[in-house]
Amino acid sequence: MIKRHVAGITILFLLFVWGSTSLIQPVRSAPTPPASPVDALIAEALGPSPLGETLRVLCDEIGGRPTGTPAMSRAVSWGVENFRRAGVDNVHTEKFTIPQSWVEGATQIEVTSPVAFEVKAVSIAWAPPTAGKGIEAPVLDVGEGTSADFLKAENAAKGSILLIHSKPMTTLDDLFNEYIRAPGIVNEAVRVGAAALVFMSTRPRELLYRHTNSQFGLMDRLPMAILAREDALRVARLIESRRIVRMRISLPNRVGGPFESENVIAEIRGSEIPDEVIILGAHLDSWELGTGALDNGCNAAMVIDVARAIHDAGIRPRRTLRFILFSGEEQGLLGSKAYVRMHRNELDQIVAVTIFDEGVGRVSGYSLGGRRDTELALIEILKPVRDWESNLHTSDAFIGTDNFDFLLEGIPTFVANQDPADYLPNYHASSDTLDKVDLRELKVQEAYAAVTVYGIAERPERIGKRQSRTQVEALMAETQLDQVMKTFGLWPEWESGQRGREK
Ligand SMILES: [Zn+2]
Repeated sequence: MIKRHVAGITILFLLFVWGSTSLIQPVRSAPTPPASPVDALIAEALGPSPLGETLRVLCDEIGGRPTGTPAMSRAVSWGVENFRRAGVDNVHTEKFTIPQSWVEGATQIEVTSPVAFEVKAVSIAWAPPTAGKGIEAPVLDVGEGTSADFLKAENAAKGSILLIHSKPMTTLDDLFNEYIRAPGIVNEAVRVGAAALVFMSTRPRELLYRHTNSQFGLMDRLPMAILAREDALRVARLIESRRIVRMRISLPNRVGGPFESENVIAEIRGSEIPDEVIILGAHLDSWELGTGALDNGCNAAMVIDVARAIHDAGIRPRRTLRFILFSGEEQGLLGSKAYVRMHRNELDQIVAVTIFDEGVGRVSGYSLGGRRDTELALIEILKPVRDWESNLHTSDAFIGTDNFDFLLEGIPTFVANQDPADYLPNYHASSDTLDKVDLRELKVQEAYAAVTVYGIAERPERIGKRQSRTQVEALMAETQLDQVMKTFGLWPEWESGQRGREK
């Protein structure tokens, strides 16, 4: 009651003030200080912007864009055009060669006996095509494909199609495990002479997704597919009931020779130390079952809009900000790997690399790539957004996005840790479409990214030293990154000095 009464008075008073401004003295308010660059940046990122429309064009009008396809070429033009529109400096592309191209053909899988039914399935990326009408063979259930499972199946496995079970995926760790156990399964399947491998989808309701077990952008060793979870479970039950299940697999995947791909690059030149560079990057390519909205169109569009926001806020940071949309990420981090190789003589100039590749979801902080020496400075830089509870960083190091080759070169890297609520169930799936993108959250993410890279560019000191080869190797041992690299077959490249810091 009292509140209402007070409110009534206030309204009357306001009406009075409004109606008779000439009769009262103007109220002297404290002068508003000019907005700090960081405040101006946040306002630019959160305010009206082309972000939503830019992303819509990428997802809906260009769509899924595997590297090497015409859609990816259109996406590269989209990147160039939008960086130009943002008014930033030095917009260009840098070409590099990818040894092979791979696109899925019209995958067809069916059970032919004891009952005939079609199996919903997609090819695993980089699986070799099957010849003629495909492979028809008995299906052997090898459980989760552990060494023990293979030992049991050993005698019957030759010439068979091997079915691998999975548990439903609910966490990022589950997804990571799916990747990390695959190379061992493929090795065993090749060893026992299997005709093909079929994996049970980790996602129910017939959701299919593109997965790759090849980390180099090169052809894998045997035909492989992901089967709709429900169909795979039916096959497993038939086998369990002692029926002999036969399956026909046709994977007319289209494979091509070497081709050129392009990373898209733009800059805001530094005002005081232009030779020192902070990179903000996201990959532009995507798989094509969906339209690559969460992975990673939203962050490609976000990177462009960070450039626009800094430009429109009239800010020129002390060091240079370089914005990169990488190509070939899904094929095995090929664009960032090529970038690092092409710029090997300039890597001392790269102060830090910040990558976004987990869709749209609340950012809790950054993964520091196995380091802690950069953490305090980062916490300081992110103070202006401390209310967002996103200043909690992790010191893990992993393989899985475009910071990897920079990390191997000893450069400080930051990968946003995000709430995977929407990202995970739609990851590489037909459901990764624009309707999953929360534009409001993406704008918050943009503000966060902008504050980060601007803050790193402005600091008097570099945020962290470039590590030596010995230091990188110590970091690998500490975080067990070395083990993961061995599992994925990436260790020889590091060991031979082909990849990563030389000294
Ligand atoms: Zn991605």
